[in-house]
Amino acid sequence: MNSLEFNYHKPNTLEEVCNILDNSENAAIIAGGTDVLVEIKKGLRQNDDIVSLKKLHELKILKEENNEIIIGAAVTHNEVKDSTLIKNNLSALSDAASNIGTDQIRNTGTIGGNLCTGASCCDMAPVLLAYGAKVEIVSSSEKKIIPIKDFFFSHRKTLIGKGEILTRIIVPIPPPKTGVCFLKFGLRDAASISVASVGVMIKLVNGVCSEARIAIGAVAPAPKLCDKASELLTGLTPDDLSDDNTLLKVAEAAAGEALPLDDIRGSADYRRNLVKTLTKRAILKAIAQTI
Ligand SMILES: Cc1cc2nc3c(=O)[nH]c(=O)nc-3n(C[C@H](O)[C@H](O)[C@H](O)COP(=O)(O)OP(=O)(O)OC[C@H]3O[C@@H](n4cnc5c(N)ncnc54)[C@H](O)[C@@H]3O)c2cc1C
Repeated sequence: MNSLEFNYHKPNTLEEVCNILDNSENAAIIAGGTDVLVEIKKGLRQNDDIVSLKKLHELKILKEENNEIIIGAAVTHNEVKDSTLIKNNLSALSDAASNIGTDQIRNTGTIGGNLCTGASCCDMAPVLLAYGAKVEIVSSSEKKIIPIKDFFFSHRKTLIGKGEILTRIIVPIPPPKTGVCFLKFGLRDAASISVASVGVMIKLVNGVCSEARIAIGAVAPAPKLCDKASELLTGLTPDDLSDDNTLLKVAEAAAGEALPLDDIRGSADYRRNLVKTLTKRAILKAIAQTI
């Protein structure tokens, strides 16, 4: 078979998906196809079986349950962007979705497909890491829910193994006095792949940061949390962070946790500097939401 020859499956249930994945040597799931189809056309992948998620309505859910927002893996970026539920509860996720690709890409590309590419520059990762999201993974033998921080291994490697499918993304609704911000930098205003991206969550209790997460994308083999930089935010007040030196110390710590490469979109040094600048800006924007 050449890369354009494969069996195309359009199962109706998750059980059928798992069955096809279990019985194929090298099946691939296709959701929106914005990555898979490009790779097939370029001959970068060779799959005997391609399994579409189009008929699986359970992967299109978007609902609130037990103070969490449940997003089906096959929900598109434009559905995330336009959802009132998401705008009202997870505005930074809506912002992130609205900055992905073009309308054509956002109409077909899905949140699950974005995460499952495992690309270090996938924009949904830093913002979901900042929110402290979890992901649900299903196979014929089990269903597991894991923190998204454990989902990414290295470039294009995720926790999804053979026979497994990402079914849901579960995002806790941030408590009051919590700010979340996602910022990305690309080489043009529209349809731009991130050269660096940052997600920040800051939770204030009695005017003091009690919990914080800083996540970075496109500047390490995989999207990641910056644990040391996040730790530095804990115990600080918005007043402390209005001091440029304090802010810089946190931003420099985040840049120090990046492991960027030189490539056509930017040098490693340039990317580290971007992390510094984006982290500072994202912290200030997150803080502004808590006041
Ligand atoms: C012009 C252009 C611009 C783009 N701009 C951006 C951008 O700004 N930011 C950004 O982050 N990305 C961008 N992308 C990349 C891509 O569009 C997104 O990553 C998109 O969200 C992928 O989703 P999809 O549903 O199309 O995935 P697909 O192409 O269907 O699948 C991608 C990968 O995930 C696997 N997969 C999909 N769904 C599941 C599932 N539920 N369970 C297990 N495995 C699964 C597939 O097997 C495949 O390996 C762009 C792409 C193009 C072509």
